[in-house]
Amino acid sequence: MKKKIFLIAVLICIMILSLTSCQVNWFDRHYDVPWWMIAIPVVIFSLIVWIVAGKCIASKKYICPKCNKTFYPEWWSAAVSIHINNNRVFKCPNCKTKGFCRISKEDK
Ligand SMILES: [Zn+2]
Repeated sequence: MKKKIFLIAVLICIMILSLTSCQVNWFDRHYDVPWWMIAIPVVIFSLIVWIVAGKCIASKKYICPKCNKTFYPEWWSAAVSIHINNNRVFKCPNCKTKGFCRISKEDK
């Protein structure tokens, strides 16, 4: 969890440092667009995508590779979890081990 927070903080720092004002030419007119007109929509859009993706991923049941118990992950951790295809790294709430969990085929 600390690694993820660190990575997110680094990404935010890179985004802040790369922010500058930009110039827009709209037909014959020339506009200077301030940095916040770029940053605020990007942040809002990123938050919406993060929340929707997290809720969508967390709506599926996953199987722990060690104890074979099924569980629903937290949506905020599902949105940033490492994955290969449909297998995602989650911490099992039963045995507390981390591993690639596959989606359960059983119904909700
Ligand atoms: Zn487990």
